[in-house]
Amino acid sequence: MNRADVAIAGAGIIGLATALELTAAGCSVTVFDQSEAMSEASRAAAGMLAGADPENPAELRELASLSLALYPEFLSRIESLSAKKIPIRTTRTVLGVRALPRGTKAVSETEVQSLAPGANTHGREFLLLAEQSFDAWDLAEALPAAARAGGIELRERTAVLSVHGAASGAELVTAAGSFSAGAFLNACGAWAPNLDRALPVVPRKGHMLTAELPGEVQMQCVLRTPQVYVVPRGGNRYTVGPTVEDAGFDRNVDPLRIQELFSRAVELWPPLRDASITETWVGFRPGSDDGLPIIDQTVDCCWVATGHFKNGIMLGPGTGRILSQWMRGQQPGIDLSPFRFGRFATSAAAS
Ligand SMILES: Cc1cc2nc3c(=O)[nH]c(=O)nc-3n(C[C@H](O)[C@H](O)[C@H](O)COP(=O)(O)OP(=O)(O)OC[C@H]3O[C@@H](n4cnc5c(N)ncnc54)[C@H](O)[C@@H]3O)c2cc1C
Repeated sequence: MNRADVAIAGAGIIGLATALELTAAGCSVTVFDQSEAMSEASRAAAGMLAGADPENPAELRELASLSLALYPEFLSRIESLSAKKIPIRTTRTVLGVRALPRGTKAVSETEVQSLAPGANTHGREFLLLAEQSFDAWDLAEALPAAARAGGIELRERTAVLSVHGAASGAELVTAAGSFSAGAFLNACGAWAPNLDRALPVVPRKGHMLTAELPGEVQMQCVLRTPQVYVVPRGGNRYTVGPTVEDAGFDRNVDPLRIQELFSRAVELWPPLRDASITETWVGFRPGSDDGLPIIDQTVDCCWVATGHFKNGIMLGPGTGRILSQWMRGQQPGIDLSPFRFGRFATSAAAS
């Protein structure tokens, strides 16, 4: 079949979360990915649902609250469709800051040490945040399986090469021929500008590593500062990240960056000095000019959702829900003005 109600380019969390919502509402959906589903930024992520981070831009608040409220239902739907588990690995984050944000209260040294034994608290105050995290690799295994089981047609290794939108629908040229759809979504993450050059989005490269400690499990919360985080991934495995680099789509893992990252993590959590680095990888966050998502209708029957930068895992279910409403002609449940594409034209005119 070369026709669907909705065609989506990009089978990362944004494309697949939207596809799940649309199929639940009765639409037929085909999702194309130039590579494999959930193999890019959505797999590279640490898996933190960092909605309570005081550094988050205020504009994200409403979308983040919606998304976090949808998370339990999102994960349980994926688990039941895929028959795969996505365990919540942590439910608290201990956040180290140089100065306390207004209106917040630091936790005591005793409390920090009971949650993150051995943490180096020197020169920092710590906040306790009620945040969850899971292993993004668990989601990357389960979500494509859930999509297929839910009736979504997933066409991997099939790039969308161009799209023409008209009032009657969208015509796609793909690596496997042409395809027609009633509506189209560009959810290509850092590659979104390949289908629409006007989009001010670039890849923001991140290095990550997994460190494995011998012996007993030592920490069961996320330990984070604005410079580094240590995220328990089950057993005595910890994900350490991240770097944020402007290096185009360079897929090389730089051993110096990995060492630097590891040293930063050891400085924060000295017990990690006994760990072995067992995995290293890089990923490409979709970063817009102002660091906020771009969620908008671009031309007739065509939408875009990219630029989720550091928070795309957290914002996935909410983005899927509002896009599904909008693409089916309903009013999106939240104010999307901070995410409209037109904001860039306004800032260009002002400067
Ligand atoms: C190191 C790192 C750590 C992170 N940690 C977190 C975290 O802890 N919490 C959090 O909330 N977020 C985190 N993020 C951010 C999050 O991973 C991203 O914001 C999110 O995954 C973006 O999802 P996406 O679906 O837009 O992009 P992607 O997951 O990159 O998916 C885009 C897909 O589009 C496909 N594609 C591209 N071009 C085409 C085309 N022409 N045709 C068809 N398919 C195409 C690609 O192959 C890819 O599969 C992290 C990111 C990185 C890199």
